[in-house]
Amino acid sequence: MRPRYKQLCAICRKSHVLISSGNQFPICTACSMRQIDKPIEDVVFKKLFDIDQKLYESSSFLRSIKSNYLRFGSLSEKQIEVFKKVAAELKSGAPKGEGAATEIPEPREPEKEGVDTREEKKKPAKQAGRAKAKSKPK
Ligand SMILES: [Zn+2]
Repeated sequence: MRPRYKQLCAICRKSHVLISSGNQFPICTACSMRQIDKPIEDVVFKKLFDIDQKLYESSSFLRSIKSNYLRFGSLSEKQIEVFKKVAAELKSGAPKGEGAATEIPEPREPEKEGVDTREEKKKPAKQAGRAKAKSKPK
């Protein structure tokens, strides 16, 4: 585990970037936004990357996917899938972590008072045995 540290942006040399791994290229949000702001010829990818600029600004993950495409001219199935997923999550205002928050937590049902009837039914049988053991005189 490496500690996070700050490094000067390698492009503008003005902004500081929070680096979490040694291989990470130090580039600030503004510069990486500029880097990925390039026209895309491929119709499929053009549509894929046609999302709100704010989403790119708020997610370094989305930016890295797009810059990968710009660099290599394609993406793997999985990268496309994850990109769509993360973009959709951010768009819907789901709680986001900077980076690859690819797993959506299962929605939990709110607990209500007096609704756990199953517990009530289970208890008598269980308690009968326990109650006897517990109610030993001192
Ligand atoms: Zn910069």
